[in-house]
Amino acid sequence: MGCIQGLGDIAAILPEPNPQTLLFMNPICPYCGKSSVLTDSVHIYGKSLGLIYDCRPCDAYVHVHRNSPTNRPLGTLASSELRVLRVKAHLAFDRIWRRGATTREQAVSWLCAAMGKPRHLAHIHKLNEEECRKLLQLIPNFPSK
Ligand SMILES: [Zn+2]
Repeated sequence: MGCIQGLGDIAAILPEPNPQTLLFMNPICPYCGKSSVLTDSVHIYGKSLGLIYDCRPCDAYVHVHRNSPTNRPLGTLASSELRVLRVKAHLAFDRIWRRGATTREQAVSWLCAAMGKPRHLAHIHKLNEEECRKLLQLIPNFPSK
């Protein structure tokens, strides 16, 4: 006695996970402030490209990490305008390191510094409209040696 019991024992006394409580973990839609809905992307693409957190009234969604047991979102929900901006920002950013003058690692470090963001937030799927526009303006200034 006195020892911490195994996790199996603790799990046994906890109630079953409740779908109602899990709903609270769905990301909030940044446009309407309501909770998004976890759903299959089939109604977006006509075929399934995995799960998404979706806000239909705002036409905003974000993909879920593949193989994530907790259905972790890739970033924040994006409207059609933001989705276009993120694709543009991603293409422009990838061009920096794909042309071989720098490594992807160095380009990411530069992005963090240029955007004034910590590494875990300096991801294009986490940028909003304003931040994408800022990044698109900054990318031509990337030191090309
Ligand atoms: Zn919404």
